Amino acid sequence: MAQNGSTPNLSQLPPEMLDFAILKSGGALAPRLGRLSLQGRKTILTPAFIGNTSRGVIPHISQDNYRKCGVDGVYIPLEDFIEKYPNKTPPVFQLETPEPLRAFTALPNDSLVVLGPRRNPPILTPNGHTNTEISLLTSVGFKMVSSEYYAAAARKLQPDIVVGLADIPFGKEKVSIKRKDKMSDRTEVWLRDIIAKQNTVEANERKFNIFAPMLPIERDLQSWYLEHLLDDMVDKISGVAIYDAYLLDDLPDELHHLPRLSFHDPASPQDVLRQIGMGMDLFTIPFITTATDAGIALSFTFPPPSEKPQDDVRQALGVDMWHADLAQSVTPLSEDCACYACTKHHRAYIQHLLSAKEMLGWVLIQIHNHAVLNTFFSSIRASIERGTFDADVAAFTAFYEPQLPEKTGQGPRVRGYQFNSNELAREGRKNPKAYKKFDEEKIVQLRAAHGQLVGKKPEVRDVIDDEALVGLVGMGNEDVDVRLEGLEIEDTKT
Ligand SMILES: [Zn+2]
Repeated sequence: MAQNGSTPNLSQLPPEMLDFAILKSGGALAPRLGRLSLQGRKTILTPAFIGNTSRGVIPHISQDNYRKCGVDGVYIPLEDFIEKYPNKTPPVFQLETPEPLRAFTALPNDSLVVLGPRRNPPILTPNGHTNTEISLLTSVGFKMVSSEYYAAAARKLQPDIVVGLADIPFGKEKVSIKRKDKMSDRTEVWLRDIIAKQNTVEANERKFNIFAPMLPIERDLQSWYLEHLLDDMVDKISGVAIYDAYLLDDLPDELHHLPRLSFHDPASPQDVLRQIGMGMDLFTIPFITTATDAGIALSFTFPPPSEKPQDDVRQALGVDMWHADLAQSVTPLSEDCACYACTKHHRAYIQHLLSAKEMLGWVLIQIHNHAVLNTFFSSIRASIERGTFDADVAAFTAFYEPQLPEKTGQGPRVRGYQFNSNELAREGRKNPKAYKKFDEEKIVQLRAAHGQLVGKKPEVRDVIDDEALVGLVGMGNEDVDVRLEGLEIEDTKT
């Protein structure tokens, strides 16, 4: 791996070798600039984010609109594809083609594909992990999948990057020291499994790169794992997957040259800045889709506008497109945005789409929200380059509200496995009922509209109107026809 810009010529590297060059670094726990390159894929300047997918697509964005999101890579969880396991071979494994995962999900050839076991953020599973298996959630329920199966899946699917299995008891508030010991032991064994599988890739096949997980526990509790990682696996891994950004401090020096992919779910742009300030390189940003589903068009710039917000009130990070004030607003989602949604449509139209539950409403907001994050990240890189990052972060924090706006409107219909864990814990129905009972008052109104009085039985009409008769006759005829045919056959038999 090259450091500080002394990149070897890309053509000298084996074609599937991931190269990460650190272009600027202020030392440990400081923001840094990097360049992630892999032959045949678009070069990614870091800090950056990649698309967070559901079943291989960025939610609301079909693959023909993928380019409009401006991302150069995606994160794909294996749990989205293996609902048929273990009874049948999942369809994604049945493709006999190079790079089956890319082919199956119809992603462009130049897009980086990162495979991990679980969605980000993962939905908590009721079963614990065992020494050889992790618990994950497919679209038909929770399943146990072995480390061997995961390694074999990576070998077969040929993604560019595979995130090693980590034994993390998600959602557990307290984890005992004994359990943490186990996390370290198992993660070490599972990483060995995947490295062993990588070694079986033939010379003429595309080799996948491995990102080693860093457990969200104190360094001395994962020392067993880290020691072995440094002793005999470090040259086999191409990056690290970080589950707790605040433990970046504990990252061994020997791993500092590797790209860092964050699985520490940021709740807000400020959280993203905090992680970048500690030296994070690559993100998936789940809040983009959360905001889109809520009908919130993100709206923030970095650094923030120089003029102070009015009355010293901090500005919102997004615009709630359900807000009644926007019903006649013919301005773009954000004034300065050059995205497809902002150049072609206005707020009133998007609000109309949302109220009509037209999918296009969410599609346009999702395209816009990705564009906002793209600009956010390129401005962050420029700010690190200029050396004004800390001051810009302080200005951003002072200018904007600390959290994204609350959801007010109704989101698109979602399936159980698309929930994030926070939402799962929330009370009430996931999808509101499409058909509801009217309340008493409404029933009286409706009856009155039909000429009925409360408590009085509806009039029984003794004449059936023509329309109803036609309907009955039609239905009767079909019935009769079928029977007649049957009879005829019987007749001919006898
Ligand atoms: Zn836009």
